[in-house]
Amino acid sequence: MKIICIGRNYAEHAKEMNAAVPTEPVFFLKPDTALIKDDQPFYYPDFSKEIHHEVELVLKISKAGKNIAPEFAHKYYDEIGIGIDFTARDIQAKCKEKGLPWEKAKAFDGSAPIGKFISKTEIKRLDDINFHLTVNGNTVQKGNTKDLLFSFDAVIAYVSKFFTLKTGDLIYTGTPEGVGPVKIGDKLEAFIQERSLLAFEIK
Ligand code: MG
Repeated sequence: MKIICIGRNYAEHAKEMNAAVPTEPVFFLKPDTALIKDDQPFYYPDFSKEIHHEVELVLKISKAGKNIAPEFAHKYYDEIGIGIDFTARDIQAKCKEKGLPWEKAKAFDGSAPIGKFISKTEIKRLDDINFHLTVNGNTVQKGNTKDLLFSFDAVIAYVSKFFTLKTGDLIYTGTPEGVGPVKIGDKLEAFIQERSLLAFEIK
């Protein structure tokens, strides 16, 4: 399986990164070795001094497709979850400076904790989903899908022009503003609406 991550999909986050608001989706990949499941801890890697949390809603692809039209994209995912797109911001800054790819900063082992999924049918409006992240009980990021620059369906349509989507692939749909550093000992918990679906510790 593969993990596709959408960058800069919330305007306020693009602004906080001093990045241009994109006119088409920006995306990158993480390998399956990036996943952390079942609330297992995240081990702070020794190659970075600035690991940032980015909380994101995650789509789980439920059937294979290529060149999916936006009006049919909703048929390609049944479940939505929440995860963290951990980013070594110090390394990413260096990559950006030199115009190099971001993989070292984005796709390292453990960079994609993923929580439990809920059925799409449990959500009234996909374009009005509240989600948030707490660190040690304090809310640090809050988002709502009404602020997405590219909707779930637009993202699936766009990505599937380049990559065949397969059952079990995950799409991290972008982070709202409020990204920031984590440190050893922090406890992170992520929620869709008010449901806690992911909770783990930084070790
Ligand atoms: Mg992200």
